[in-house]
Amino acid sequence: MYWIEPEYLYVDGALRTGLGVLVSADDGAGRVVSVGRRGHDHFPVVTLPRRALLPGFVNTHSHGFQRGLRGWVQHADPGAADSFWTWREAMYALATRLDPEAFEAVTALAFAEMVRAGFTTVGEFHYVHHQVDGTPYADPDELALRVAAAARRVGIHLVLLRVAYERPGFGQAPNPRQRRFYDRDPDAVLAAVGRLRDHGIEVGLAPHSVRACSAAWLRAFARAPGVLHMHVDEQPGEIEQCLAEHGRRPVELLDECGLLGPRFTAVHLTHPDAAELARFHAGEAAVCACPTTELDLGDGFLRAWELRAPLSIGTDSHASIDPFAELRALEWHSRALTGRRNVLPHEGVDGLAATLVRIGTAHGAAALGVDAGVIAPGQRADLVALDLRRMEFAATRLLPALVFNGSPAAVADVWVGGRHVVKEGRVPGGEALALEAERALRRVAAG
Ligand SMILES: [Zn+2]
Repeated sequence: MYWIEPEYLYVDGALRTGLGVLVSADDGAGRVVSVGRRGHDHFPVVTLPRRALLPGFVNTHSHGFQRGLRGWVQHADPGAADSFWTWREAMYALATRLDPEAFEAVTALAFAEMVRAGFTTVGEFHYVHHQVDGTPYADPDELALRVAAAARRVGIHLVLLRVAYERPGFGQAPNPRQRRFYDRDPDAVLAAVGRLRDHGIEVGLAPHSVRACSAAWLRAFARAPGVLHMHVDEQPGEIEQCLAEHGRRPVELLDECGLLGPRFTAVHLTHPDAAELARFHAGEAAVCACPTTELDLGDGFLRAWELRAPLSIGTDSHASIDPFAELRALEWHSRALTGRRNVLPHEGVDGLAATLVRIGTAHGAAALGVDAGVIAPGQRADLVALDLRRMEFAATRLLPALVFNGSPAAVADVWVGGRHVVKEGRVPGGEALALEAERALRRVAAG
């Protein structure tokens, strides 16, 4: 056991002085034993002067391998009309090139960048399952196990959201670039989930979208144990397809298939109509917004100020990996769209900042079924120390400044399950991981 004592500790929605945290172990499975003033016991002490210690951020929605697209899909292709659907073709082109080594390397790079930015848990929405021609690997879980290996190398806490992918879309011809994603039937998906749990991996189930799963598949997953995540209402085109196939909109379909409930998280929810939103609220499901990806892809924007459901964040395509940027975008974009300020629900002077911290931490942990997201006894010891010596925090009201002016550069130290995975802003071995990912991507591009 050891004691961490920062200048400020974030508990109960506020920064407090004179308090520390007793952590049970430094091996990745450590928990918070107690929070309070240091006693006369003789545990080793880590003092953190000029640091604020917050719960680690939770990245509720990630596709790690898409980190390999960064920069390549932000440039302009002269004369071509660009959209989500053209971006998707670029993503498929990458997905069809990666072999297991390259897949692991680029995923590890994404995870390394996440911990450096202050994320301590990731929900990896994993949908590349097979070889390029669609044949399963000798071990059918090869790539999922590569994701777990990438997480272990970096030290981030992983919840693997095992994706179910049935088809290219309602009435659409098979797309050879999706062959790596397809599952044979719902039982094959559930069997894969069971095998991965037997490997000791925390696993949730993720029907990809109403495009990729029929109603029969969705019904088959309604009783599966664990958390359920799904892309919902991301693009107007998928809602039109859903109406054409089922005569109802996606949220209505999910409700009828028995999926909505407290363990269900809808990712995006950028285009629900009023009736869908009401049904969603009645179903007590949660939402994960991915603001920087949604802005990058032109997906639209969640009407967060109308939402009455727990909201979390994800960096999704990794156009940016920065929890502060996601949280700021949620509030600032809501301001731009409503013409008001302090738009997300809040109470008290620092209430908005506390709301954003909760969105970035506790709500994400709940969506992934993880005991984390608050600094309290019994919770995982997932902690982030921010450097208060930085110029951007001088002469400020501290909590709102940390949220609205925070950045990965301000993250000094990170502990995941009590294990010290970022030290003075550096991920040990991070440069080697970056080099490995660069080489792997160059190799598969050349091949
Ligand atoms: Zn996604």
